[in-house]
Amino acid sequence: MSERSDPRDELRGLARDLRRHLEVLQVMGVHSLRCEEMAEEAPPEASTEAGSVPPPAEPGPPAEPGRRTLAVVREEVGECTRCKLHETRTRLVFGVGAGETPLMFVGEAPGAEEDRRGEPFVGAAGQLLDKMIAAMGWTRETVYIANVLMCRPPGNRDPQPDEVSQCLPFLHRKIEVIRPRIIVALGKPATHALLSTTAPISALRGRFHDFRGIKVMPTFHPAFLLRQPDRKREAWSDLKQVIEDLERIGVRSPNAPKV
Ligand code: URA
Repeated sequence: MSERSDPRDELRGLARDLRRHLEVLQVMGVHSLRCEEMAEEAPPEASTEAGSVPPPAEPGPPAEPGRRTLAVVREEVGECTRCKLHETRTRLVFGVGAGETPLMFVGEAPGAEEDRRGEPFVGAAGQLLDKMIAAMGWTRETVYIANVLMCRPPGNRDPQPDEVSQCLPFLHRKIEVIRPRIIVALGKPATHALLSTTAPISALRGRFHDFRGIKVMPTFHPAFLLRQPDRKREAWSDLKQVIEDLERIGVRSPNAPKV
């Protein structure tokens, strides 16, 4: 005789399936489903700018009791003074994009323009990143973009270990909330911070690695690609692997990718 399963496990399984289903519908651009209850319960987690966390444009799946939202993580960060970078920053750059999405991008740290505007990747490198994301069939609004550091290092110097160790737990919390299926790590500091390695990016890029059960694809940072445009071909081959892997698990990009 088969053992009876715990009805709470079944409910949890159903909730998980429903969430995944809604996630796939959302990334496929199906925004016309309406559920009044969901609209009321939707967590305010689609942040568009550091410091302000407006409600999501579209109703998302209900928050699980006890699970953080991006708004909660933003509150936990607060007006951060945990490392010396707070003394020189203009604005803290939390992250931008969809509160739950299968695809996340992680960069290094805000630059001058990001520090001024409080949003990641809005300078020259950001424009190239936008093009890379668009070529994959996604947008800034349907993926999530964050950095290892939330404050700009003066003169865009490399992040220092104490700064990374203070900021990284918050990146981990964002990842926990967003639950991406794949993270694209842009450049060396992001790859090293996520994968706890010091191997050269050239040895890591082009294949998937694991971060707590989430696939990580290291690739070149867009700022590097601006300096070395002949390396774009390699970056595109990394991104194509990401698109193909998402498709394998049933996640199609909202706009047709140019694979
Ligand atoms: N470079 C990064 O790594 N992040 C930004 O937000 C901007 C430039």
